[in-house]
Amino acid sequence: MSPPKNRTVAIVGGGIVGLSLGWWLGRLGGDVTVYEAAPDGTRSAGYAAAGMLAAQLEQEPGEEQLAPLLSHSQRLWPAFRDALESDSGLSLDYQTGGTLMVATDANGLGRLRHDQTYLRRLGWQAQWLMAEEARTREPWLSPQTLGALFCASDHHVDPRRVLAALTQVLGPRVVYNARVMQLSPTPHGVDVIQDNGQKQHYDQVILAQGAWAGEHPLVPDLPPLDPVKGQALYVTMPTPCLSHVVWGEDVYLVPRHDNRLYIGATVEPLGFDARITAGALYHLLKQARLVVPAILEAEVTEIIIGYRPRTLNDTPVVRPSIVPNVTMAVGHHRNGVLLAPWTCEVVGSGEW
Ligand SMILES: Cc1cc2nc3c(=O)[nH]c(=O)nc-3n(C[C@H](O)[C@H](O)[C@H](O)COP(=O)(O)OP(=O)(O)OC[C@H]3O[C@@H](n4cnc5c(N)ncnc54)[C@H](O)[C@@H]3O)c2cc1C
Repeated sequence: MSPPKNRTVAIVGGGIVGLSLGWWLGRLGGDVTVYEAAPDGTRSAGYAAAGMLAAQLEQEPGEEQLAPLLSHSQRLWPAFRDALESDSGLSLDYQTGGTLMVATDANGLGRLRHDQTYLRRLGWQAQWLMAEEARTREPWLSPQTLGALFCASDHHVDPRRVLAALTQVLGPRVVYNARVMQLSPTPHGVDVIQDNGQKQHYDQVILAQGAWAGEHPLVPDLPPLDPVKGQALYVTMPTPCLSHVVWGEDVYLVPRHDNRLYIGATVEPLGFDARITAGALYHLLKQARLVVPAILEAEVTEIIIGYRPRTLNDTPVVRPSIVPNVTMAVGHHRNGVLLAPWTCEVVGSGEW
């Protein structure tokens, strides 16, 4: 993609990737329109996300190839936040408390030791905390806490605030109820055709449809994409509770500024299955209660479902399509919030 100054750019998909790109390319002088199929932004994965900017403790064996990318984008986040907060006048609830990974039984301690060794091998530091120290830092932790790993550099943000800030800055440049069904290349750009037959010409098009990209591929070289369902919930605590993101076994708790705790999330390769299941909620609450017992007294204020866009090798695809003047920005899987600044950097620079 050539630098967007004075060029018309259509972005297909108004999730965190599409809106971030719309805002960023607009700042670089592009004349941007974002097409969003839904009536608002609530069906996007970003709306369902926890918002962990966790390049380290989110890291899983087999995903080592992603490590430099995740770390790089994590370093871009503070400047991205400052610019977006300044442009929108809204706070993103960016919190820097770091992440605690907690063990409440012998198996959990073994898991933490293994994680610490694994992170060291990747060149990262995660500090071992004895039980007392962990509970001093986070008094809501269970008395059964046996130890914890602390990672200071893993921050978090409220993704719904990020979406709200982006939507505010973009204003009428986001068109809702606008499902793009077809792209038709022309000698000087691309025609974008909606499901109602409306056609509009642009110099450049960027595909950012998240998990829906594979449903109705708009370019022939789109990589295979699977929706990975995630269920989560919000509880509201009576008073301010955690100051870190806290991980237990198979669960994490992410504090918001208004006493809500995000408890997430399942990882279910079930396509666009829209069922909220008792088993998922039971499992999340059972595991969360082991690390923070007081959640049992909290009110459940929301149940969440979302679909992560996963490629075959879990790596996002941000590059030009073989269709001239079309760029793909898809497949951000579990890290689309974290990787939004990197995606903007790559697409904005036009270097691949
Ligand atoms: C439960 C859960 C927890 C998560 N937690 C984290 C986390 O802590 N940290 C992190 O970094 N990431 C997290 N993620 C992952 C992150 O949310 C995704 O990687 C990211 O939202 C992907 O962004 P996207 O814009 O590509 O897709 P989406 O956010 O899904 O947006 C795609 C948009 O495109 C629209 N669309 C689709 N087709 C069309 C079309 N033809 N025309 C017009 N519009 C179309 C859709 O309606 C949708 O709004 C989580 C995800 C889930 C589900």
